[in-house]
Amino acid sequence: MLGHVHPDGDVLGTLLGLGLGLEAAGWSVTYAGPHPIPDVLAFLPGAARWQTWSTLLGRFDVVVLTDCPNPDRTEGLLDAARSTARHLLNIDHHPDNRRYGTVNWIDPAAAATGEMVFDLMEVLGLRVTPEIALNLFTAIHTDTGSFRYSNTTPRTFRIAAELTAAGADPAFVTDRLYQRRSPDALTTLGRVLGRIRVSQDGRVAWLTVPRELCSEAFLAAEDLVTYPRSLDGVEVAMLLREEGEGRVKASLRGKGKIPVNRIAQRFGGGGHENAAGCTVRGTLDEATTLLVDAVRLALHGDAA
Ligand code: 5GP
Ligand code: MN
Repeated sequence: MLGHVHPDGDVLGTLLGLGLGLEAAGWSVTYAGPHPIPDVLAFLPGAARWQTWSTLLGRFDVVVLTDCPNPDRTEGLLDAARSTARHLLNIDHHPDNRRYGTVNWIDPAAAATGEMVFDLMEVLGLRVTPEIALNLFTAIHTDTGSFRYSNTTPRTFRIAAELTAAGADPAFVTDRLYQRRSPDALTTLGRVLGRIRVSQDGRVAWLTVPRELCSEAFLAAEDLVTYPRSLDGVEVAMLLREEGEGRVKASLRGKGKIPVNRIAQRFGGGGHENAAGCTVRGTLDEATTLLVDAVRLALHGDAA
């Protein structure tokens, strides 16, 4: 079970959920990725088994990737695994998936790969234990913004209902994801939110985060881009965070008017119509100017 960079609820919930199901069916499963599990997701059953790798450790018959549109998002682990594994399963819901697997199952209609893995487990006859249900429920919960985004469908609720019946506790997930802040985190949040900027016409809002402003754990726990997005009239919201020397990670969010993945693609990134991302070279100021200009262009209908 091979994860992508900066693993989120969807990739971790599906890899752990499917892996636990396969283990019960007799498979020997390893869980790993280039980055560790963020503290906020450490409650996922099986999380303690997660290994953080800079190089591939071991040989594998089958490699499973979920929620990973692009082979580059494994920092080389996928290429290393490719030479030993006979089967490479690529399970994803991103429309721009590169189809790098020996089996590619891409369903852009799925709100989360959590929905797909739930269906897969049913077809494989794998029992959904309470631990597995919690993993898959969290995958769907996080990718739909707690069942609030436009990707939420009747299928989402149907599967969430089945997972709840199988033992996933929605209040427990909410508690773990949103109700465990330290007082310190709120102080930081206050400082960060003061940095939100809005374009003159009110259609674009963005938040820039210099490196020293807050910790990795804070950024992983707080879905900061939701704040500029929450403004009335905003059609595109962005979070730009300084990652390392001359590298800025951008998160883009739309509200159904502008497909933000098109904008992210222009900078070598990708994602969904209303949620996408990319990494831009340059200082925080340079990256902000580049992206705000690109969004303006898209808003005024000049961009493809
Ligand atoms: P986030 O902004 O939360 O990091 O990501 C939002 C969506 O955009 C996710 O579906 C994620 O897969 C996609 N995404 C974020 N960053 C990148 C990137 O650098 N490249 C690609 N291809 N997709 C990205
Ligand atoms: Mn996803």
